[in-house]
Amino acid sequence: MIDIKQWVAEVAGEFKKLYPKADISLNYSTPMELLVATILSAQCTDARVNQVTPALFIKYRSPKDFAASPPGELEEDIRSTGFYQNKARAIRQCAADIAKKHGGKVPGTMEELTQLSGVGRKTANVILAQKFGVPAVVVDTHVVRVSGRLGLTANKNPEKIEQDLMVLLPRKDWIVFSTRMILFGRNVCKARGPMCGECPLYVGCPWEGKAMGTKK
Ligand code: SF4
Repeated sequence: MIDIKQWVAEVAGEFKKLYPKADISLNYSTPMELLVATILSAQCTDARVNQVTPALFIKYRSPKDFAASPPGELEEDIRSTGFYQNKARAIRQCAADIAKKHGGKVPGTMEELTQLSGVGRKTANVILAQKFGVPAVVVDTHVVRVSGRLGLTANKNPEKIEQDLMVLLPRKDWIVFSTRMILFGRNVCKARGPMCGECPLYVGCPWEGKAMGTKK
C-alpha cells in the first residue's frame, strides 16, 4: 500500500503540472472586493461572478457603500449569481460590521473574519490566503469531494478535512495545493462525470467509483 505522504506528494506534483500558476479565477483588487466576490461565488461559477463584479465594484466602492445600499437595489445588481437575496443580506451585514468595527478595513485574522456576519471559515481562508498571504487550506465543495476520492481524508466535515490536509502538506503548500485542487475538481474530477480516463492520477486513485467515470 502506498505511503500517504508519497501519495500526497504525487498528487501535488500532478496538480502543479496541470495548473502551474494556481491562480484563483475570481477578479478583484481589494480585500473587500475579494470578500464580495467570494460570497457571490457560492453556488455560482466564477465566470458568472466575474461578469457581475466590474459594474458592482464601480457602483459600491467601500464597505459603507455596500452596507448603505437601498433595499432591493443590491439584490438586483447581483441577481444573476443566484441566491441573490441571501447573498445581498450577507454582503450588507458583513460590510456593516467592517465599517463599524474595523474602520472600513477587512480584518486579517481568522477570528475577526469569522466574527463578521455571513463569513464562514471557507470564505475567511480565501481572504487570508489570497489577500494576506497567511497559509491556509481552503475547503470548498470541490476540495471535500476530491480529497475524499483521492483518499487524502476519511472525513466529510470541511473543518476536519482542512485539518487533515494541513497535516499532510507542508505549510508553504497549503494555499497553492487547495487552489489547484479546486481547479482540478472543476475541470477533471467533477461531481458528475469525473474525467477519470484523462486523469493523471487514475492509477493511484483509490476511489471505487472511478471506473464508472467518463473513461475515453
Ligand atoms: Fe477523480 Fe477519477 Fe481522477 Fe480519481 S481517477 S482523481 S475519481 S478524476
